[in-house]
Amino acid sequence: MRQSKLFVPTLKESPADAEIASHRLLVRAGFLRKVASGIYELLPLGARVVRKIEGIVREEMNAAGAQEVVLPIMQPRELWEESGRWEKYGPEMMRLKDRAERDFGLGPTAEEVITDLVRTNASSWRDLPINLYQIGDKFRDEVRPRFGLLRGREFLMKDGYSFDRDEEGMRRSYQAMYDAYGRVFTRCGCSWRAVEADTGIIGGDVSHEFMAPAEVGEDDIAWCEDCDYAANVTLAAYRRAEPPWGEGRAPEKVHTPEQRTIAEVSSFLGMEPERFIKCLMFLVEDEPVAVLVPGDREAGEIKLERVLGTGEFRLFGEEDWERFPEYLQGFVGPVGLRASRIIADEALRGAGGMACGANERDYHLTGVDEGRDFTVSFFEDVTLARDGDACPRCGGAMRVEAGIEVGQVFQLGLKYSEPMRCLYDDENGESRPMVMGTYGIGITRVMAAVIEQHHDERGMIWPLAIAPAHLHVLPLNYERENRRAAAEKLYESCLERGLEALLDDREESAGVKFADADLIGIPYRAVIGKGYDEDGSVELQVRETGEKTRMSAEALLDLLAERLGR
Ligand SMILES: [Zn+2]
Repeated sequence: MRQSKLFVPTLKESPADAEIASHRLLVRAGFLRKVASGIYELLPLGARVVRKIEGIVREEMNAAGAQEVVLPIMQPRELWEESGRWEKYGPEMMRLKDRAERDFGLGPTAEEVITDLVRTNASSWRDLPINLYQIGDKFRDEVRPRFGLLRGREFLMKDGYSFDRDEEGMRRSYQAMYDAYGRVFTRCGCSWRAVEADTGIIGGDVSHEFMAPAEVGEDDIAWCEDCDYAANVTLAAYRRAEPPWGEGRAPEKVHTPEQRTIAEVSSFLGMEPERFIKCLMFLVEDEPVAVLVPGDREAGEIKLERVLGTGEFRLFGEEDWERFPEYLQGFVGPVGLRASRIIADEALRGAGGMACGANERDYHLTGVDEGRDFTVSFFEDVTLARDGDACPRCGGAMRVEAGIEVGQVFQLGLKYSEPMRCLYDDENGESRPMVMGTYGIGITRVMAAVIEQHHDERGMIWPLAIAPAHLHVLPLNYERENRRAAAEKLYESCLERGLEALLDDREESAGVKFADADLIGIPYRAVIGKGYDEDGSVELQVRETGEKTRMSAEALLDLLAERLGR
């Protein structure tokens, strides 16, 4: 590639809506442009990176026994009604009508379409297992698209689906995909961590997310320093510490005028927040439910959803406080409380000498013991783990860090095959539903995650395997005939040896060339300048470390080929 001919419109200024490095740098370096909110174009250098990530995904999927297919983006409503997701997906699904007013959805995933494909074309145990994947555009009408490629409305994804005879087969397929995913991310130069995850709208029982640790990540992951436990914070378990305080003598009513929040009351009473019982009121399927958590902890929405067995709940809003005046906002507590259910976090089992709301305006209680002064319907894990909590497996210290979700794998079981009647005949001629798994990698997200992990203030730093080119040839003062000839020769040699080079054949100043090269971030650079005039050597520069070594052009090519494993 010759830079003078390449469509790589670099910018000096960052786009106004770019909040994170990957978005900012991809636009500035001329890899990416926005068409509409959450919808992007990849320019030639960006497209090269994406095709390389796809190539790695394809190699690993094929090696793991999956076969590539191409499925439609536009999918008929009828199939989505069979799984119940036409309703359930809600406004996140992009929908359209054809000229005959028939409804279609633009696929956010393809479980329905692929289940239909398999049920109509495979019917015997001899046909199984089947493992199919595709790489293509997906759509999700995000409420608030942002962070460039991290939260777009149209994005490139690899999605895969396995069909097995039984649970054991499904677990084998799942493990094969799990292992292949690890290899994909490692080869792309993306550091990652697999964590236990919620299954959300996709469904199923077991799921892992592949997280790329990065400050800008929208998920928090908890992981143990001493064992391999790791989970999304939304459902990470943790060992509760023994409450250090003993029994209260008896509940004592204290006047706390206008002190409603935990922070206000705890400073008013001079007690630590963890000695308070925070009583959260939820409206669950139109019934009030109380959730008790220690004053210094937050209840987790996904944990609550699992405990409540429904996603249909919300924290009390103004209208709920008005509708149920027996609950006094700011002064609700468990002593004498009436609710259809009172659920308490594990941490409160046996807690004594606690403080809580007195269910009376401007009053709180102290010296309250669980068991003696109030009872609950059941204890559950409903609060979020945080940095420093004890690991549920080994008791070691857990760390919490932000991560970008780059992939997720699910054990679906019969979630789609049962309602959609995706059946096969076993050896005895008995009809059984196939047992499914589903697997996704956000290709454009991997690209963004890699940049979040590999950049500096000057620009991007691509790992060799997915870089838009292997070598950036930078002749300084290109108008000098000897340097121009040397650069051309090096560039031609690269092509002959199958190495990808970008030749900066522009008559720009050294400053401009270096700034653009830093921004674009090709991992190796061959500078042809003063050294060449002196002894015919070129200077190899490593983008990541800034390391510089003078060598012959031939030695540089050998070194590069070796780094590429050729
Ligand atoms: Zn552990």
